[in-house]
Amino acid sequence: MIEEDEEFEEQCEAAVSDIQATDIVCKDCGKKYKTRGGYERHRTSKHDDQQQSQMPLTPSVLTEIVNNAVNKVKESRVFAASLRNEFSAYRYVQLEEGTAEFSEMKVLYDSYLKSGNTEKFYGRFYSQVPLKSTSFFPGLSRNAATLLATKVADCMLVHCRHIKSPDGSVSPSKTMLSDKEKAGLQYLGGYVFAQSLQKVCKNVYK
Ligand SMILES: [Zn+2]
Repeated sequence: MIEEDEEFEEQCEAAVSDIQATDIVCKDCGKKYKTRGGYERHRTSKHDDQQQSQMPLTPSVLTEIVNNAVNKVKESRVFAASLRNEFSAYRYVQLEEGTAEFSEMKVLYDSYLKSGNTEKFYGRFYSQVPLKSTSFFPGLSRNAATLLATKVADCMLVHCRHIKSPDGSVSPSKTMLSDKEKAGLQYLGGYVFAQSLQKVCKNVYK
């Protein structure tokens, strides 16, 4: 509901005073604002650059995110036992800073911290990581690596949200897929997968 409140406030403000001749467009996420005040509030809440520089993605932070994702898969009963067994034996090898894979992860991470745009984050993540999942997570089978990629997306989002609101006002469980959705998604890939996730993302703020 955060977005709606913001929009309502923005409309009221525009109606009363301070109406700009043209909309102010946010250079980072493209959202349009009719008032300077609305725009400033948006900048502060969504693109606080200080927060970003305090918590850069390092190889060890990424490893923590990936290990969280691995644990999620191990704990989840909706996945086939063979997949869970594969993860039980899996040890993630930390990516080196400067590798193509690490750089891609860092771009995804930084741009989400900057824009706060969940759909854009999933869109980018799914267009890049699952297709090359086995180079991001060497040692896993294709199915397992793709599954892990999707979990890493969730865990990375949760991690970024904690940075953005350290008081924990956003519950991590809300970004996770429901069991029914997980079951249906297990063997799907690519576009269909991303579409379903976008649907889930829209529910995050409810
Ligand atoms: Zn913006």
